[in-house]
Amino acid sequence: MSLRIGTQTALAIGAIAAFGLRGGPAASAAFENIYSAGHADIGVALEDNDELHLHYHFGSNAVLNGAVLGPGLDDEAYEYDPSEVTVLVSDDAKLSAPVALPFLGLSAGDPVWILPQSNNPLLPFVGIATEELTSGDWSSFSFSLTGFSGPGAFALFQTGLGTTVFWDTIDGIDGTDVLTIGSIGGHDHYNFGFSTEGVYDLTITATGTHRTLGTLSDTATFRFNVGPLASPVVPEPASLAMMGLGAVGVLGSVLVRRARGRVEEETAA
Ligand SMILES: [Zn+2]
Repeated sequence: MSLRIGTQTALAIGAIAAFGLRGGPAASAAFENIYSAGHADIGVALEDNDELHLHYHFGSNAVLNGAVLGPGLDDEAYEYDPSEVTVLVSDDAKLSAPVALPFLGLSAGDPVWILPQSNNPLLPFVGIATEELTSGDWSSFSFSLTGFSGPGAFALFQTGLGTTVFWDTIDGIDGTDVLTIGSIGGHDHYNFGFSTEGVYDLTITATGTHRTLGTLSDTATFRFNVGPLASPVVPEPASLAMMGLGAVGVLGSVLVRRARGRVEEETAA
């Protein structure tokens, strides 16, 4: 929840109030703040003691609308609703796939845009966090991809000794598009991969089993603009039906990312 309410957001809130919508369709969202670099986590908090709330939690080095947020702001100033932000995946994220990436429908050498799991100061450094939750209160927690629109394929994956794919759209979206959180109360970073330029809307559902409140969930749509900033930033129709079914699963190779500008440590929490 952000204290910062711009004109468009106010209009959107007005529209929601007027039509009695709650968590309404993406048409009411403006995605008006452009996030182009620095650290942020897709976080989840338990609010009003019984409601989960998905949001962005930005670091002080995050660049929004061309300016660094900076240190010393009120905590709330670093939190934005998903509908207030577009993540800019600029061509600094573009590389040639070093190996085939079947979970993105790509062959070796094809262009691919990846926000990497390791920080590149030129790009948004996006994690997924449960650190606002009290770990002992939860017996399980997961983040699922439950909706998607975009001009190409998207996947969330991590590379280490091998590659683990958590979400991919190449074979549609189903119960396998789930990131199960083993260590509730922590946070981690992932590769966000896109197969072509354009505007992608990812609908994410956070679901947890609370020891006294039972199962709680929240769903929100997060927008990513891949390549040059579209103006206005409008999603393209889903093209899942146009894609062939690809082999999905574990890629037994470590992706080689460009070394330019990489640092291993987060520079802000
Ligand atoms: Zn993080």
